[in-house]
Amino acid sequence: MERKRILLIGTGGTIASEMGDNGLKPELTSSQLLKYVPDISGICAVDCLQLFSLDSTNIRPEHWLRIAKAIQECYGQYDGFVVSHGTDTMAYTAAGLSYLVQNSQKPIVLTGAQKPIGYETTDSKQNLRDAFTVAASDMSGVLLVFNGKVIMGTRARKTRSKSFEAFSSINYPIIGMVQDGRVIQYIRPKNCLPTRFYEALDPKVSLLKLAPGIDCGAAEYFLGRSSALIIESFGVGGLPVYETGSFYEAIKRGLDAGKTVVLTTQVENEGSDLSVYHVGNSIKQNLPILEAYDMTTEAVIAKLMWILGQTTERVQVAELFYTPIAWDILSLF
Ligand code: ASP
Repeated sequence: MERKRILLIGTGGTIASEMGDNGLKPELTSSQLLKYVPDISGICAVDCLQLFSLDSTNIRPEHWLRIAKAIQECYGQYDGFVVSHGTDTMAYTAAGLSYLVQNSQKPIVLTGAQKPIGYETTDSKQNLRDAFTVAASDMSGVLLVFNGKVIMGTRARKTRSKSFEAFSSINYPIIGMVQDGRVIQYIRPKNCLPTRFYEALDPKVSLLKLAPGIDCGAAEYFLGRSSALIIESFGVGGLPVYETGSFYEAIKRGLDAGKTVVLTTQVENEGSDLSVYHVGNSIKQNLPILEAYDMTTEAVIAKLMWILGQTTERVQVAELFYTPIAWDILSLF
């Protein structure tokens, strides 16, 4: 059987970093990374493309568009793609790519590392090997491969800042594992739709995490500067009402001005259900806000950017928001 052809797209991150005067900084290109793991040539044939060399703290939606464009331009030439990326915002990029490249029949695999590839103790080499193993397999869609786990691109979250077990799959099981160079696939998501690439995003999406006593003016401020505001509220969801004012009025003014508002939860697992408590239901019944249910905040951010890049018409926004894409939303209560 002919060896699979995989494109390695370098974007920076710890995996490609070296120590400088002020700490770690991405320096190595994708072909330099590959030299550290020569046995990858036994898994597949690799070409390299260096798009940028950034700490992922500096990656913005415009970089997601550049990665998606690079994949689109080379889509016919390769059987799969590996994107090496910093771990800090990798889950956001994975979500972004899940909306920009929909129904991919080929695997698009993001990976990175907690320790640079040049360090004696590093997760870089194994993560790269595992990523190429998945990219050369018959899996499909946007996936994040890290510490042996294969996670759906819309379900990934960085949940540990230092250890190798850095990512979790939120409100969805891991798709599979890579063990001893073999993919063990637990779930085979069916995908018969044609692959579709998108080229527009509206990056003006803000996120506000509530804290007890937080000033309602924060919502007003963000809504004044954004097309959409996501509010990470408490528990299954609700908004505080103070003697001095309420979020309700600020949100209503934003909605009247054509903005989109989504309520979600800051609790990591199990999602929102605004219908349970008066503090949530009174908002949901009276204002045309959206609710995230079991979607991750990373996916909500990327999905809104993708939706608002296509339409601002309220009914269409809601329809697209609640349409499952890449298994991003399951439980519509
Ligand atoms: N700050 C780094 C980045 O996200 C962290 C990492 O890659 O692990 O680029």
